[in-house]
Amino acid sequence: MKSLNIILLGRSGSGKGTQAELLSKKFSLVNIDSGDILRELAKRKDQFGKNILETITQGKLVPLWLVIYCWLDKFLNLSPKQGIIMEGSPRLLEEAKILEEVLSWFGRKKLIVIYLETSEKEVTNRLLNRRICSQCHKEFSLILTPGLKKCSHCGGKLIRRPDDYPRAIKNRMLFFKKNIIPVINYFHKKNMLIKVKGEGSVMEIHQNIVNKINPPTGGKR
Ligand SMILES: [Zn+2]
Repeated sequence: MKSLNIILLGRSGSGKGTQAELLSKKFSLVNIDSGDILRELAKRKDQFGKNILETITQGKLVPLWLVIYCWLDKFLNLSPKQGIIMEGSPRLLEEAKILEEVLSWFGRKKLIVIYLETSEKEVTNRLLNRRICSQCHKEFSLILTPGLKKCSHCGGKLIRRPDDYPRAIKNRMLFFKKNIIPVINYFHKKNMLIKVKGEGSVMEIHQNIVNKINPPTGGKR
């Protein structure tokens, strides 16, 4: 049986994280989120951690070598049979090509790329209202639960991610146009892209994705 390898592309705030979580449960995939790894590294009190924090706070990109380090750190500890999903990478055309190469070196040649389509206006509003739990990192939306102060899961304090402030959001929207659109076009030209509308209920979107994936586990092995 071939492992399922999924790349989820979309604007910040398109619901990628939520959909990745649902897909990873549905198909038993490991979620490889370089953003999570980076936010973890950004807690370091040394110069390395400070540089990462400063970079992501400004909505800028960390260098390519650091992203590749995040991937390798994960892939080296995974069984080749374990399916994966990625939603924080690739963030540049150059990165997309290297990621394909890395995946192929790990024997992961079958790749499904999903583009979650959303408007800039919609996602900006979502991001301004996003909060995360400072303890368990669960995400909340003040649009869905206005005035929420504490995590409903563990009671932890809700905070904004450093990259969810207006200036950083604006930078990420510009970034998407300049860098992610070429990645989307690249996979589209290779006939590897599945487009799904990112507006509607979470479960509707999830079902649309599942219907379009047609996983290898469902057919002949
Ligand atoms: Zn919590």
